[in-house]
Amino acid sequence: MTEPAPHASTGPLVVHTPDELRRALADAGRVALVPTMGALHEGHRSLMRVARERADTVVVSVFVNPLQFGPNEDFDRYPRTLDTDTAVCAQEGVDVVLAPSVNTMYPAEQTVTVHAGAMGERLEGASRPGFFTGVLTVVSKLLHLVGPDLAVFGRKDAQQLAVVRRMVADLNMPVEIVGAPTLRDPDGLATSSRNVYLSDAERASALFLSRALEAGRAAASEGPGAVRAAARAVLDGAAGATPPVELDYLALVDPATFADAPADHRGEAVLAVAARVGATRLIDNVSVDL
Ligand code: AMP
Repeated sequence: MTEPAPHASTGPLVVHTPDELRRALADAGRVALVPTMGALHEGHRSLMRVARERADTVVVSVFVNPLQFGPNEDFDRYPRTLDTDTAVCAQEGVDVVLAPSVNTMYPAEQTVTVHAGAMGERLEGASRPGFFTGVLTVVSKLLHLVGPDLAVFGRKDAQQLAVVRRMVADLNMPVEIVGAPTLRDPDGLATSSRNVYLSDAERASALFLSRALEAGRAAASEGPGAVRAAARAVLDGAAGATPPVELDYLALVDPATFADAPADHRGEAVLAVAARVGATRLIDNVSVDL
């Protein structure tokens, strides 16, 4: 960073339209974008800090993107807390909050969309048809609107990070994608905007996810089969918890392609899990060094 952030002392400039954004970013220097859906928590803050270190101007977008929600998902009840989100951004020295309306982002039917191909149809893509098309479409729109030098994404959503990286490479988008580590509560639960849905008992059951991933990681020296088995054993126990952890998938995959890691895989892999606790769907992952 060469100069103090222009809005850091007064709080971020909140803009809602492409024209306001363009004015806000005149003479912005090196720009970092942190795309979010709001309901900002410690995980988002950690992304903002990564962005703050690497850019003159930090833009946080807050947009609950209807295109990435399925018909039976939580689009309507997803937490919307722009005032507290803006206060969080002020504390983190964010310069600009981009909070467009659905109409501003999608003034007409979005007939041209971005597809991830096969890697977007596995795991999250299999459980949530259309999810990655919604994500890639909105991320490419945000990248075009903001024109950042870099964009910061959390490794918490590892498959999302992988498909975004692939989009940027395949479509020659002139932006650096930075992956930031997963922020966890002290008990291991990955922070998530959806954690507010959890009752105390559900939250206790949700801890089985990070425990299973740690058990898998601890078996890394014994190879992919042992990693999967160790994590699976914890999740089998979690199925009998109260309330139960209903497993959607557990997978050990290549971090770039999200294809299953073969039995002789060496180097980094991602151990990813998705499960439902009560009505809440949670995902988590860890990097495993094989
Ligand atoms: P969301 O608002 O849930 O769409 O997330 C916005 C960004 O924050 C994404 O890049 C997420 O991967 C990232 N993120 C969410 N939770 C965490 C976390 N616990 N640690 C790090 N990054 C996170």
